[in-house]
Amino acid sequence: MGRVPRFGSGRAPSPRPQGATPLIAAATVPTDTDQLLEPAARDPTGPAAVSPLLRELCARAGNPGRYERWRRQVRVAGYCQQPVRLAGRVEHGDTQTGELRAVLDTTGHPDGVLLKACGTRRAARCQPCAEVYRADAYQLVKAGLAGGKGVPETVAGHPRLLVTFTAPSFGPVHSLRVRRGRVRVCRPARPEVRCPHGQPRRCGLRHLPGDPALGMPLCGDCYDHQRAVVWNALAPELWRRTAIYLHRALARLAGLTAARAGEQVRVAYAKVAEYQARGAVHYHAVIRLDAADPDRPPPAWATVELLTVAIRTAAADVGVPCPLGGPPLGWGDQLDLRPISDHAGGEELSAGRVAGYVAKYATKATEHLAVGLDRPIRNRRQLEELDAPDHVRRLAAACWLLGGRADLAGLRLRRRGYLLGFGGHTITKSRHYSTSFQALRAARRAWTARRLHGSAVPLDQDGRLLPPAGMVAVASWQYAGRGYRTGADAWLAWSMAQDARDARRIAHVEVRTRAA
Ligand SMILES: [Zn+2]
Ligand SMILES: [Zn+2]
Ligand SMILES: [Zn+2]
Repeated sequence: MGRVPRFGSGRAPSPRPQGATPLIAAATVPTDTDQLLEPAARDPTGPAAVSPLLRELCARAGNPGRYERWRRQVRVAGYCQQPVRLAGRVEHGDTQTGELRAVLDTTGHPDGVLLKACGTRRAARCQPCAEVYRADAYQLVKAGLAGGKGVPETVAGHPRLLVTFTAPSFGPVHSLRVRRGRVRVCRPARPEVRCPHGQPRRCGLRHLPGDPALGMPLCGDCYDHQRAVVWNALAPELWRRTAIYLHRALARLAGLTAARAGEQVRVAYAKVAEYQARGAVHYHAVIRLDAADPDRPPPAWATVELLTVAIRTAAADVGVPCPLGGPPLGWGDQLDLRPISDHAGGEELSAGRVAGYVAKYATKATEHLAVGLDRPIRNRRQLEELDAPDHVRRLAAACWLLGGRADLAGLRLRRRGYLLGFGGHTITKSRHYSTSFQALRAARRAWTARRLHGSAVPLDQDGRLLPPAGMVAVASWQYAGRGYRTGADAWLAWSMAQDARDARRIAHVEVRTRAA
């Protein structure tokens, strides 16, 4: 059965406390129906012992009508695995007579609550909500490359590149080296060459993808963990300066002043932050060159070649002063630039592939580096108990240590220890790149509302229902807890989410097959 805990193994059903923490984490949901029954209950000759989980299941599904209403609730909450439970009511009040009319009251709902999706972007916390976020990120990036969602299709003709900006070296680490299609030795050096701490500078292994050694330092004492976390913390500032340097480099290459270039072109971008195995953030950025006037094509001098040189120049020149001293913090030597085209093939990437690539990283953070990094580290004890490789623990400890320094208070390193210092948004874009997450959510809300209440229903700009003319909405809500009330509910919601995902996949394949 592995690490999956068994529900109903001798635990007495108890009233569950209501609090901010999820009652049943998605990861603890049993994945095997065999676990639903205790051995005694599976044995027809044994005593008819019924597990608490089975009792909870019967209580939920015993009444088909009530069960169907509960399933509908889970469906409306997007199969969220840790929904917020809210109790309350919404009334419409007549502005003339003051008369109140209830339009929604949760006392009649299953368990007297409404389920509200958690809306997280992190797949490790709630897979169904993260999937919605991923799909939005895809649409947002793709619209900026191919048009749509209010973006003109002419953007497809603008110079644009997918650029990966990496962090510099903070010390030698084990790495996957591929040259001419072959995996090479990690670190060739003479065996007798050692670092000041007596560790060999050599690694004769050929690491393959998924090797846990990848990204780990050859010597933990040689690796500059403090500078690494400060770099993570300052990565958003480094990006901000890079955008300024890029504009200047473009102007210089075009033989214009920065002001004149600003009258002709504008740089638009969308970028996502990803953690490398060594715990350093790197950015994948879609960079597009537009005309300053959005109704015109970019000037003839604005080419992909010019943009390429300008990005390389800006990335090499830019820096942020390091508050720990030493040289300024800049980008690493590895700068990968790839052209994006309408037709995929060769070196070029299609708009859809780039969008899928960026969206994939939008739902991830540090959780793949260590267990326990999905929540903030609030005290020294949590830091000491962190179930992480030594390297990751040292990065988190560097955040804790430097976070206590008054001169570095602005970097908020203690609060961001679980993010290894990085405090920026995972996905960001310039204002003119394309649509926004907010607009995509509003459109989805409006679509759902119109499907449920008809196309003429009045909605506000966020896609929320408006009360009829002459009425005002009065709402009162109370927090009733987070997550599902019982293990059985969590398990049912989890299997509904799996079914919905399978159905979506099948529909997707059918649409593609029909189109082909
Ligand atoms: Zn959720
Ligand atoms: Zn190695
Ligand atoms: Zn060393």
